[in-house]
Amino acid sequence: MSRWRTFLSDALIAFVAFASFAFIHELGHLAGGRLVGLRASFLNPTAVRLSGPLPADASRSDFAFMTAAGPLVTLILTIVSFALVAGAGRRLHSAVKRFLTWWAISGVSYVGIHLILAGYPVRTPYGRGDDFAVLAGYWHVPDAALAIAATAGVAICWVGGLWARAPIGATDGLQLVARRAADLRRTPVAGWRRLAALEMFVAAAGIAIYGGAVVLSGNASGVDVLLLAAIVSWALVVMLIVPWRAPGAAMVVRRWALPGVATYLGALVVDGIAHGDYATPLWLMLPTVLTAAWPLSAVGTGLQEQASDAVTPTKTGAVA
Ligand SMILES: [Zn+2]
Repeated sequence: MSRWRTFLSDALIAFVAFASFAFIHELGHLAGGRLVGLRASFLNPTAVRLSGPLPADASRSDFAFMTAAGPLVTLILTIVSFALVAGAGRRLHSAVKRFLTWWAISGVSYVGIHLILAGYPVRTPYGRGDDFAVLAGYWHVPDAALAIAATAGVAICWVGGLWARAPIGATDGLQLVARRAADLRRTPVAGWRRLAALEMFVAAAGIAIYGGAVVLSGNASGVDVLLLAAIVSWALVVMLIVPWRAPGAAMVVRRWALPGVATYLGALVVDGIAHGDYATPLWLMLPTVLTAAWPLSAVGTGLQEQASDAVTPTKTGAVA
């Protein structure tokens, strides 16, 4: 396949995977709501809401059930797709692996971001906040727990990229490198970049702890600080620590990050037409995708050979 055809097919797979992932999440809300007799329906492709006023006999637990059903479906999809690609990877078609890997990345990113968003205080059980925030309101989760959950969400956004190396590696034939944490130290970057990355990491961790403290004080603006730590400062750490010319890192950029950006641009257009919100979660996901380049850039025996194998698809288009 030519470069452009590979890029277009990667972007198309990313788009279909992400859109279906978001749609199935909403179907979870819809099914959960209907199951307990709520009149739930699609407001737009990325939001299911109750149609009309709540029925008089609807209980808070019914609404909580409908809210929880979406994340539950997402969690199942994430775990299953992770396990399928990392476990039974060799038997799956490469396009299927790419598709499922996007599901796995979307799921990890969803959990991280929504744990952060759970810090938005929800004053009413029928609030229009994000899923975890509504559930936190329903269960009267104390601010201290929300602060810990939100800071953990930041960590999941970071570590999620390291987890993503397994399905990404399995999809692109890089599964034999960087299995252990020690491999992260073998990434070939200059000493000053290593030092700058460490300083940036300390700053990112500091911002995350500060954001958690603000949430702890009952102030929702800490959530914005946490998002900043999770996305912007972490992206800077990754930019510094990853040797972008290493075959594994270049592969992540070419076959995941750039198609991801194309998907984001496509999502902006779809959002403009369908009034959904596909685009926001996609750019929040980008640092997680880029993080996978770190372990996959580690110098390992056979990396060069495997990487060049993987960019040349087999005649059948089957597993590289
Ligand atoms: Zn939801």
